[in-house]
Parts: sequence; C-alpha cells; structure tokens
Amino acid sequence: PAGIVHRGRFAPSPTGDLHAGSLLAALGSWLFARRAGGEWLVRIEDLDPPREVAGAADRQLAALQAFGLEPDGPVVRQSARGALYQDALERLMSSGHAFECHCSRTDLAANGGIHHQCVATRRRARPAVRFRVPAGSRVAFDDLVRGRQAQDVWATVGDFVLRRADGYWAYQLAVVVDDADQGITEVVRGADLLDSTGRQILLQRALGVTVPRHAHLPLVTGADGQKLSKSEEAWPVDPADPLPALRHAWASLGQDPAVLAEATSVAGLLACARAGFRPQSIGTRPVGPVVDIGRGA
Ligand code: GLU
Repeated sequence: PAGIVHRGRFAPSPTGDLHAGSLLAALGSWLFARRAGGEWLVRIEDLDPPREVAGAADRQLAALQAFGLEPDGPVVRQSARGALYQDALERLMSSGHAFECHCSRTDLAANGGIHHQCVATRRRARPAVRFRVPAGSRVAFDDLVRGRQAQDVWATVGDFVLRRADGYWAYQLAVVVDDADQGITEVVRGADLLDSTGRQILLQRALGVTVPRHAHLPLVTGADGQKLSKSEEAWPVDPADPLPALRHAWASLGQDPAVLAEATSVAGLLACARAGFRPQSIGTRPVGPVVDIGRGA
C-alpha cells in the first residue's frame, strides 16, 4: 500500500523454543519496523521437517505474544507456500539462472564442497536444482548496522541449491520469494545469516524483485563465546516473565538500559523502547548471555 516506508519481518525456523538470539532478532526487527511507523510480519520457516521440533512454532508464536510483539498481518508458514517456490524455480530455470544437478557431496569434495560445474559420477532419480553463480559474482550491499559488505559469491559459495535432491525447498529460495511476495523492505536478522545475503541478492536480481535493505544484528553467544548451547538456549527467555528478557535483548542491541528503567509492563516497555531506539548504537561484536541491563536502575 502507498505510504508504507518500512515493512519488516521475523522469520523463525521452528527448530526449538525462542531463545536469547531469536528474541534479539524479533525485538530488533520489530524496532526497525516500528521506528518509522512501519509494519512488522511473522513468518514460520518450516521447510525442513526433519529439523523441526513438534509444537515449537506454536510456542514461538505464544512467546512473541507474551513479549508484546504482535504481527500486523496473518502469520504465514512456508510449508504452505510450495506453489510460489515452484513458480519462481520454473522462472529461474527458463531464464537460464537455474539448472538440475546430479552432483553428490562426495563428487564436490575435491573442490571443498563448492559447485562450479557438474562433475556427477552418476545420475540421480531426482536431481537437485542449483542457482548458477557466474564467475566473478561479487555482491556488495550497505548493511544498516555493519556498513559496506562485500562477498565473492562465486569463490566462497559457488552454485547453490534451490531445491534439494530430497525434494525440500532450500531456505535461500524460499526466503527471497517470501520477502518479495510479502513486500518486505527491511530484512533485520542475526549476523549468522550475513553470509547468505550475497546469495539472496543474486536471486533477487535474477527474479527481478526489489533488493530490501539489510541489518544484521549481533550474534548471541554462550558464556564461552561460542554458539549458544542447548542449556543456555533456555535462558533468559521466559515468556512467563517477559520484562527481564526484553531488557536483556534491548541491552544486547547496544541500547541504553535507562530508557526502559521506569517500565512496569510489556506494553509500557515496548513504548519506551520504540521511542528511544537508536539503530546507530547497535554493535557488531557478539554479545554474551550476561549483559549489564542496569537492574539497579
Ligand atoms: N529462518 C531463519 C532462521 O531462523 C531466518 C531467516 C531470515 O531471517 O532470513 O535462522
């Protein structure tokens, strides 16, 4: 619709409950969207049934509600959107951007797993479909948090999968099709997805859709500086006690804890957050599970 400057989204995969990292992405994307009165949507990325945890999507949605993060439209689920992905795949194949590929992991091992040309030793009953990344495909974009980013997608990624040999849709295709279909103008997400952005921009160009703006938020790491462990994933995101988790996510976004000091309700806290959000204060370094949230304030 005319007049909408920002439309953001939070797109969790239902592989577990909402944890500190996903709450950071949820709150961060909500703040970016809301800072200029824009819209915010939620999309469940349930494309990989073997990795899904039963009931996780519903618990994630219930948690978002408890944290006061209400989407402006119906929640969509990627599992119901195969026809859109199929349509995009067919367009990419007929324009020569995508091709069927019989290569196995073993076939590609000699090239570090990177596909630059088909070297399959035997044909599969059902091939994968890959996006062709021309040599020299260097993609640059201006990240709203990290500044200028550039990636040589050919050298570091190669031809990437759009539909897997097992028939499942790849995240890269689905996320681009959905962001375009839903009119997303700003993709705000964790820095773990920074190296997917080059691939997604190549896909957006090939499909002739608008490239959204990007902001990659700090990673949340465990106490040891590594990826969150299973036990740490449970902390501190307790939907039954939303204020501490929201204050923690806010501080992890580099924001001043004092802005939220007076808040005593979720709605009150989010109103303060929205008014006091400073995107330029977001850091680029990973944040640990314990951040000074000014509890004494
Ligand atoms: N579903 C992806 C994840 O949970 C995020 C996709 C995105 O934000 O682009 O890691």
